[in-house]
Order: sequence, then structure tokens, then C-alpha cells
Amino acid sequence: MSNRYLFFSLCVFFCSSAVFAQKTFTEKFSKMGSSFEVIVVAKNKEVANGFIAMAKNEISRIENLISSWDSNSETSKINQNAGVKPVKVSKELWDLIERSQKLSQLTSGAFDISYAAVDKIWTFDGGESELPAEADLKRSVAKIGYQKIRLNQNDQTVFLSQAGMKIGFGAIGKGYAADRAKEILVAAGVSGGIINASGDMNTWGTQADGSDWNVAIVNPLNSKKVFSWFSIEQHAVVTSGDYERFTTIAGERYSHIIDPRTGMPAKGILSCTIFAPKAELADALATATFVMGTTAGIFLINQLPKVEAIIIDAMGRIHTSKNIKIEDD
Ligand code: ADP
Ligand code: MG
Repeated sequence: MSNRYLFFSLCVFFCSSAVFAQKTFTEKFSKMGSSFEVIVVAKNKEVANGFIAMAKNEISRIENLISSWDSNSETSKINQNAGVKPVKVSKELWDLIERSQKLSQLTSGAFDISYAAVDKIWTFDGGESELPAEADLKRSVAKIGYQKIRLNQNDQTVFLSQAGMKIGFGAIGKGYAADRAKEILVAAGVSGGIINASGDMNTWGTQADGSDWNVAIVNPLNSKKVFSWFSIEQHAVVTSGDYERFTTIAGERYSHIIDPRTGMPAKGILSCTIFAPKAELADALATATFVMGTTAGIFLINQLPKVEAIIIDAMGRIHTSKNIKIEDD
């Protein structure tokens, strides 16, 4: 069981009634280095399996597109040609990079796919025993900057204009995959379901009995205490937490979310949960608010339509955007 579930579990409660012809079917699998769960409403197991296979294929296809490990992926080709030449890519990847750049603008650079220039100095594989040297940090940070990702729409090319630059989709890829998997299933006629990417939830329609999907947010500081209920309807809910992936150096915990301004792991927040119409937006904003901190993060979320946030800071204090009311018990 992952720490995420221990610390901040987003529990889905669903029930299906025998009165209705449709039933709820679930399958768990591993993709994009994460555990996924697909829940669909369907008339029988065979039909459900077909739908779940469609979702799986779509997630694999996206994984191949955005993978930084596969040296033949389109993303790797862009990275291999940093400071060398523009690379022609598929429209899908070009669009994803353009949307990522817009999200960087929206978050004043807190979300930045070019954060990945620090990949070499922060591996978060448990092997780190000391903080990176100041000079190494400086050198890496100089290569970060979404403005330096040159997009040419006519040629459909992407150019990382400085040698040593690198892009990575760790903070948005799962959200994008969850949106795409949902779109495919909606198009196939699935009336309701959930794509759950390690606790990042994307729902549509209703449960088999016609009732809404409900997501309970459990207080990470007391896993037995559900402090809030939401009826999420068409919504996505995504959490970024410092317990996801981290490294411990000299007794201090460093999260895998990097402040692009310093190259250092962001501090001050335990978890950020974002509610938004799409998982991609929620995913990017969860990472961004983690970097921005409580005050700036909540301020930004309050400007955005149909987006809400619950932030738990390092002191265990709960902060919410304006339309969220926390129930005490
Ligand atoms: P998770 O994938 O665990 O739910 P996030 O969505 O917050 O968490 O993504 C964190 C991942 O995003 C990191 O592991 C890294 O790959 C990447 N990343 C880290 N810092 C940033 C940043 N400032 N902007 C964009 N991506 C980032
Ligand atoms: Mg994210």
C-alpha cells in the first residue's frame, strides 16, 4: 500500500443496486510508474473488460509519447536535441507542450516542464546523502525556463534553445492520461466511471444506481477522520504531497517537487488537493500550488473558475479556497 493511501487517502464509495441492469466493474493495473484503477459502469463483465482494455491502451500510448526513459520517444528526441535543433513532433505532443507553457504563465513559472534540467542532481532514488553543491544547482537552474522552449506552430517543432535543457511531464502526464482515458470511454458510451491514477481521481456520469460518485478526503494527519465530502460529478481531484516521492538528507525530508527558481525541493506544504473540471489542469495546479506556497497558491486558485483547493501546510494547518467549507467531523 502506498504512503499516499496511508497519509491522504481519497476514498471512493460506490454501490450498485440489483434493481438496475448496469453494474460497476473495477480493474487495477500498473502504468506510468503508478498504480491505476479504472471503474466503469457496464451491463456485464465482458463489456466492462472491453472498456477497461481501451483505457489501458490509451494510457500506454500516452506513456510512450511522454516517456523520458524510452530514448526513442518523441519527448526524448526533443531532449536529445536541446541546444542543437528543433524537432518535429506529433500534434498531440506539440499541443501538450503548448498547454504546459500556458500553465507556466498562469502559475508564474511554478509549474514548468523544463524543471527537469535538475533531474541529474535530484534523483529521489534514496541515493542522495548530501545536498547538491551550490555551483551544480546554479548551473542546472540556468537551464530551467519555459520561455526557452521554442514552439513553432507552422512546422510543428519544439526546440529547447539551450544545451542541457530537458523537459519532463511528471507533474501533468498522469492527469492528461486520465483525461484521455475518460474521453475515450465517454465516446464509447460508458455512462459513468472513474479513472484513478494513484489517488488522482477523474470521474464522469453516475454510479450504476444513478447516484453521484462521492469522494471523501481523509485528513492526512488523522487517517481515521474524514473531514470533507464532495460530490464531484464531472470533476477531477488531484493531490500532490511531499510523501509521494522524497529523499531524506541529514534527517530532513526533501520532496520531489522542485521550485524552478532555486532548483531546490519546495518546502512549507504537506499536501495540495485541487478540484478542477479536468485532471490535467488539476494535476498541474496541484504541483504549482505546492511550489507557490499557501498564500500565493490559494490566491491563484481563487481567481480560477471551477477550481478549488485544500492545502495542508507543514504545520498541519488546513487552508481552503473560497468555495470549500470544511466539515469538522
Ligand atoms: P505525483 O505525480 O506524485 O502525483 P506531481 O503531480 O506533483 O506528483 O508531480 C511531481 C513530479 O513532477 C515530480 O516527480 C517531477 O517529475 C515533476 N516536477 C517536479 N517539480 C516540478 C515543477 N516545478 N514543474 C513541473 N514538474 C515538476
Ligand atoms: Mg501534478
